[in-house]
Formats: sequence, C-alpha cells, structure tokens
Amino acid sequence: MAYNKEGKWKGMALIHDNLSLVKSKISEAARRVHRKPEEVELIAVSKTFPSEIIREAVEVGHRLFGENRVQELLGKIGDLPSDLRWHLIGHLQSNKVRKILPVVEAIHSVDSLDLARDINRIAAELGLFPKVFLEVNVAGEATKHGFDPAGVEAALEDLLKLDRLEIQGFMCVPPISEKPEDSRKYFVLLRELRDKLAKRAGVPFTGLSMGMSGDYAVAVEEGATLVRVGSAIFGGR
Ligand SMILES: *Cc1c(COP(=O)(O)O)cnc(C)c1O
Repeated sequence: MAYNKEGKWKGMALIHDNLSLVKSKISEAARRVHRKPEEVELIAVSKTFPSEIIREAVEVGHRLFGENRVQELLGKIGDLPSDLRWHLIGHLQSNKVRKILPVVEAIHSVDSLDLARDINRIAAELGLFPKVFLEVNVAGEATKHGFDPAGVEAALEDLLKLDRLEIQGFMCVPPISEKPEDSRKYFVLLRELRDKLAKRAGVPFTGLSMGMSGDYAVAVEEGATLVRVGSAIFGGR
C-alpha cells in the first residue's frame, strides 16, 4: 500500500490520478481514430479490492464498476452508495441468476445459449429486461468461457427469440500477453463478427466490451464502447 512521507495513506490521490490517466488515454486513443471519447465508457474493475478502496473512486466521481463474482459483488453493493452502476463481467452460473439480475445494469459474460435462456426466463419472472453481452472466446482457448465465433453465429437466431434480453453486443478477453498489439487482431475479429451478425439480424449490436489494463487503448482504436480496467486504476492484485 502507498503512504506519503508523513505516513498517511495516499490511496485516494493515487486512484484519482490513475482514473484521470486512464481516461485521458482513452480520449487520446479515440481521437487517433476519429471517434468521440464519449462513445467509450470506463468500467472500473474492482474485483478483489475491498469496499473502502472502491469508495475512494466513488468519492472522486466514478460510478461504473465491474466485478467478476456474484457473491463478492453482492457483498460490496450493500456497503456502497445505492446510485452506483454495477456490471457483472465474470462467468455466471445459472443458480446465481436470480440473485444478480435485480442489482446489475449489465451482464458481459453470457457465454452459452443455456445461460441466456435461464436469464431470459428468470428476467420474465422478475419483470426485468437485462442488458447483456455475448462473450466470445476469440482465440479458442480451452481455459476460457464463451461462444466460439461460429457458435455464436449458429445460436444467434435462438438468442434473438429471447425477448427479455437486451443484447447490447459482444465481449471478449484475448489471450494474456505483455504486448498490447497482440490483442489487436482479436479486437478486430470481435468487431467484424459484430458487423456481420448485426447486418444479418438487422440489429445494431452497438456494444463492444473489450480492452483491459494492458490493452484498452488498442481496444478503443478498434471500436470498444466499454473498456474493463482494473489494475491500472486500483493497483496490482
Ligand atoms: C479482471 C478482469 C478485467 C480487468 O483486468 P485488469 O487487467 O486488471 O485491467 C477485465 N475483464 C475481466 C473479464 C476480468 O475478469
């Protein structure tokens, strides 16, 4: 943890600086490709960090947070102001859908038709219309969740019948790499897949959730509308 010379915790200043830096890099990346910076939303990924640390980001005006575990998210929501926006970005088990649906603004990790159907059914029971993203396993990694690109294409017709789901678009997590440029081809793949499926379905699918601490600038250059940034804001985990 970071302390200043007087031994006082200086976390708030750091988080503020980190948020400003990430936002300015998002703006620069957007301008490089003639996009408007406002087209890109920053999700501060607060997983593993306690509510007191998240509160520091709230105190400097941040409102949109991402968590990857249902239990952890539910625990933190209770500690923090009720006007925050929460997105679930990690794998969701069907038995947790009922708990999470009422509290999140969006689910980025819809990774199978079965899960989509469960969310749709429970949303109907609860009277909700959840915003969701379809997670695509862009590199076909055995360790990752997500539709494979051909699979999401094959499932699209059935997914569109789920009338409770507001499908925003697509999400991906490229293979881990030291080099941001390594992610570019996967971001392009996701965007082109979106373009193709949007045309076929006649639905815009404007949302592209892609880019993390290491590669969010590249993601913005390739069309991300939401970047999910954790360690560059809160520090290493
Ligand atoms: C943890 C996580 C992030 C943020 O990762 P950082 O490298 O810390 O920015 C983004 N997306 C998902 C799905 C995650 O699990």
